[in-house]
Amino acid sequence: MEQAQYKQLVASLEGLTDAQFDALLQTLRQRQDADGVQRLIMARMAEHGCCPRCQSTSRYKHGIEFGAQRFRCKDCGKTYTATTGTPFHRLRDKTKLLENAACMADGLSVRKTAARMDISVQKAFRWRHKFLAFLNQQKPSALSGIVEADETFFPVSYKGQRKAMPRTPKKRGGKAKDGSGTDKTAVVVAVQRGTQVAFDQVLERATGAALTEALRPVLGADAVLSTDGNASYWTVAEQLKVESGYFVAQYHGKGGHGPWHVQSVNRYDSSLKSWMSRFRGVATKYLTNYLGWRRLLDRFKDQLTPEQFLFHALRTSYQ
Ligand SMILES: [Zn+2]
Repeated sequence: MEQAQYKQLVASLEGLTDAQFDALLQTLRQRQDADGVQRLIMARMAEHGCCPRCQSTSRYKHGIEFGAQRFRCKDCGKTYTATTGTPFHRLRDKTKLLENAACMADGLSVRKTAARMDISVQKAFRWRHKFLAFLNQQKPSALSGIVEADETFFPVSYKGQRKAMPRTPKKRGGKAKDGSGTDKTAVVVAVQRGTQVAFDQVLERATGAALTEALRPVLGADAVLSTDGNASYWTVAEQLKVESGYFVAQYHGKGGHGPWHVQSVNRYDSSLKSWMSRFRGVATKYLTNYLGWRRLLDRFKDQLTPEQFLFHALRTSYQ
């Protein structure tokens, strides 16, 4: 815009009613948000800029779609954008994408998110789990140094499942440790001591074999396992050929024995549990999604901006 034109535009603002002024502000804010989302999408393209079908990186520009650059692959002819292959591909309202990310960075419930964004609870729920199913793929690998591992348990819940509940609920993780008699789902948590790097995974059963398979892709060759002496971890250490050490709370106290303790895992677990309490119990089938959400927030010490949250939601790897 020419400088003279711009001056005219500013002068004409004098004639705005209060309502028009508010509407204009809203438009400007949305535009700013949309630009932010655009930058994030381009950052993803720079990081992941290859054809989703054949992984070729040679391409032509091929028009703009909903504000995002579309490309045509020189090798296979397929067209794509930065969000092709992500759940955000068909979400056209890019401003809402950032608003939703803001609600998730704040750890809001579905109901509060729906109210803040002025959308239905159902839609807020769908968006949430689209984000989370994608985020959930991001787990650290090759943990090194001292890695503390322990299991934690969540009550089995069929919350939100209106269709017939199974008459004999499928057992997961075995009987509750707390003697309450309710079924619990076991989750293994592993934390690289002295860092914010944490891994967790829902287990079908809390057995040595299940723990071994869960931890196999996570433990680096030089990892040293530190546990509370649960014999299942001897199996893990033996099978995965990593060093390990343990303490026995009964003899050594909760503080552990020298370097052998699980204080980092305990810290992670208690912050996970207290954070989860706001949801008043989550359905077991979505537990994995909530774990991924917490992993991201914890990694950044609950200091994520909406842009950072969205940036991570768009990635396919932990790095
Ligand atoms: Zn291709």
